[in-house]
Amino acid sequence: MSHFFDKTDSPYIIAGPCSIESYAQFSESVEALSQIAGVRMIRCGVWKPRTRPGDFEGLGEEALQWVEQLKQRFPDLLFATEVATPQHLELCLKHGIDAVWIGARTSGSPFSVSELCEALKGLRIPVLVKNPLIPDIKLWAGAIERVLNAGIADVAAVHRGFFLDNNLGYRNNPLWKIPIELKRQHPDLPLFCDPSHICGKAELVAKVSQTAMDLSFDGLMIETHANPADALTDARQQITPRQLASLIAELRIPNKGKNVPDELQLLRQEIDTIDNSLLQLLGQRNDISLKIAEIKRSNNLSVLQLDRWERLLQGHLAEAESMGLNAEYVRRIFEEIHAESVRLQSER
Ligand code: PEP
Ligand code: MN
Repeated sequence: MSHFFDKTDSPYIIAGPCSIESYAQFSESVEALSQIAGVRMIRCGVWKPRTRPGDFEGLGEEALQWVEQLKQRFPDLLFATEVATPQHLELCLKHGIDAVWIGARTSGSPFSVSELCEALKGLRIPVLVKNPLIPDIKLWAGAIERVLNAGIADVAAVHRGFFLDNNLGYRNNPLWKIPIELKRQHPDLPLFCDPSHICGKAELVAKVSQTAMDLSFDGLMIETHANPADALTDARQQITPRQLASLIAELRIPNKGKNVPDELQLLRQEIDTIDNSLLQLLGQRNDISLKIAEIKRSNNLSVLQLDRWERLLQGHLAEAESMGLNAEYVRRIFEEIHAESVRLQSER
């Protein structure tokens, strides 16, 4: 179990530039961040996974030497960088990096994760695992489990959103149900949010950071740059150390589940009763659907009756709208209900 990323009432803050670009840029950022209460670890990209060739790919080992120097100047800060290969890891160890993370383009590749894990065996370095680009919880949990199986005690997950068709105005869709499910499966695993890569725009970062706190995330990894406009990578989403300081100061940190007021308790009971009724109704609906399947079969009618389904769906959507319910939400629910009914009737 992890003790390095200890769970406390205040969030564990990791901040720093997307990439180390020069000694001056890096030391200016670190110096400013060292003065912000709550910042415990500096993130700093040394090898950058770029989508297309020709873009800035990081300074490699030269940048690690600067990390070593700054570690001496700021002994209270820890330093972490992204590793994608065993060679990266070896160089990080050589230069005394405190923690590493596996990025979104690597965590989705079981071959790469396995290779890294071979190299991690016997090491004590803390490892953060970002979610893969696609929203496959098994792939994310699988990468985490591989790192745990390599004997790494200090493991944490980092939610950085998913690249989907519809990203809801974000660079990467937060799809909060995925990290929530990861938390359900691994309740003791520290869970970080990287609002920078979710948002893609500096002005959204504070709001997404707050959502992460409301969802009981344990920490934040936020890209900060002394002059975001000049950044060689991810310029639009980086915030200044000053902006980070006010973001941290304004975060509302919820109590961790203690002292539930009576009023909340009562409303929760109501929700539980409603959920229970929903389940009963779904069960009743399935029973009727199976009776319908028998009648369709004996009358040689097809299971799928598209025009009836279309009519029902439009009716539900109109009703939802008149009730002020979100039409997309209602559509998703009825699509699931209908798909289950078709499945039951076809497997009969
Ligand atoms: C990064 O942290 O700079 C990075 C490349 O992130 P991700 O792997 O989440 O895209
Ligand atoms: Mn970045």
